[in-house]
Amino acid sequence: MKLFVSVDLEGVCGVVDERDTARDGPAARRARDHLRADLDAVLEGCLAAGADEVVVCDAHDDGRNLDPAGLPRRVTLVSGSPAPGSMFEGLGSGCDAALFVGYHARAGTAGAVLEHTWDHRTYEVRVGDLPVGEFGIAALLAGHFAVPAVYLSGDDKVVAEARALVAGIAATVVKTGIRREVAAWHAPEEARTRMRADVEAALRTPRKPAPFVWDGAPLRLTFTRVTYCDLAETCPGVVRLDGRTLEMSGASFADVYRTFLACLRLAGSEG
Ligand SMILES: [Zn+2]
Repeated sequence: MKLFVSVDLEGVCGVVDERDTARDGPAARRARDHLRADLDAVLEGCLAAGADEVVVCDAHDDGRNLDPAGLPRRVTLVSGSPAPGSMFEGLGSGCDAALFVGYHARAGTAGAVLEHTWDHRTYEVRVGDLPVGEFGIAALLAGHFAVPAVYLSGDDKVVAEARALVAGIAATVVKTGIRREVAAWHAPEEARTRMRADVEAALRTPRKPAPFVWDGAPLRLTFTRVTYCDLAETCPGVVRLDGRTLEMSGASFADVYRTFLACLRLAGSEG
């Protein structure tokens, strides 16, 4: 059994504030320690369930949040940026299941800790009529490879988001969002005990969720500012729908995702 694990930071135990997600400083260092502890709990669950190989993608910011020192055998860590597949580098058709750790709700979700979709330039992403965030896009990309999304950890809002998209996904709520930078904690040790058990159970059950298969509907990316759309509309194949929105399609969701990443990267460029 080969597993893919994408690890973000905003949905980790102990993270509640933008300062926690910065690259430097005491809050950032403490947050990385929490990140590693959450990941270790998930890896214990993976290995207890019999994983032969686990590919972990360090998916937050510049992808340099995790130290490979001390990782268990059979685990590979993808670090650095920009990875060709961004948050999902290493996900492919050889994987049996995908897991998402430390995830957060999509941009615009009320009461969700540090909600956003990729970065501050994204106002909304829709696939057809369906609003999606980082998890929804991840699940669709996994579906392209016929890989089921079987597990997620984060706050109560991203867990609800994931359950609405993927019936039967296992999940661990590690904190309850109150405001964007206010949360009620669950004791990290207790949350990690549940994470380990939830991951193992999710991998052992014969009734895994079905892969989330794309229905062919175009993806619409709405930016927070017209300027970002001005930069991104130079991406070949996209159609500008209004001041802030681009529409893109493709022969597969992997194609759509590649175009989506290109638009995000152009929007962050100097033009
Ligand atoms: Zn994120």
